[in-house]
Amino acid sequence: MVIASNLKTNLTREKTISYLMDVENFLDEIKSNQDVYVFPAQSSLNPHHGKVTQGAQNAYATKNGAFTGEIGLEQLEEFDVKTILIGHSERRHILGETQEAIAQKFNFYKTQGFKIVYCVGEPLEVREEGEDVMMKYLELQYEGIDLDYENLIIAYEPVWAIGTGKTPTLEDISKIHLKLKEKSSAPLLYGGSVKVDTALDILKCDGVDGVLVGSGALKVENFCKMIQFA
Ligand code: 13P
Repeated sequence: MVIASNLKTNLTREKTISYLMDVENFLDEIKSNQDVYVFPAQSSLNPHHGKVTQGAQNAYATKNGAFTGEIGLEQLEEFDVKTILIGHSERRHILGETQEAIAQKFNFYKTQGFKIVYCVGEPLEVREEGEDVMMKYLELQYEGIDLDYENLIIAYEPVWAIGTGKTPTLEDISKIHLKLKEKSSAPLLYGGSVKVDTALDILKCDGVDGVLVGSGALKVENFCKMIQFA
């Protein structure tokens, strides 16, 4: 199982460092070798060496250069970051990243051997069109993406479930995950309003290899509980 926390634009550097240390201590305490990822805000990336893998929430498809407001490979290397989230719904829908730009980013970081946590998910109006339309929509988010990449993890995060407290039923999560697994054998995480009291049931669903958690993991004790469930 993979348990991942996406801190988004939350927590200062100081709080992020203490969050990471708390998770490390917890893993030591329970003698766990669980696959745990934390994605801090860019300004809170720090030199972290431990069991927890620190990943970037985003970076531009470049080593360095004139890309105001972005960070590139050189800045990630400074913190030994070799893991990146790509295709997150907030980047697609709020920041307007196109599938082409996402695929370009994917291919750049693939060439660099990064572990890529690649996110897909449908908005509510697509889901309401029924399963066929929805699966076709999700497949379009695979355009330009190497689904056989050995360092790939996929995260299914329905847009309408992110930060809303709503989740698909457990049956629906299994159904969609099993369908997505026909396309790629990469580990497949579920994300979207996972909370301490729902994580265990979600982790038990067929086709679920872990969770990618936002708000429900902001309190480190809640994230640690989810790690213990896995
Ligand atoms: P929430 O857990 O806050 O819904 O966010 C999920 C998410 O976007 C993780 O990447």
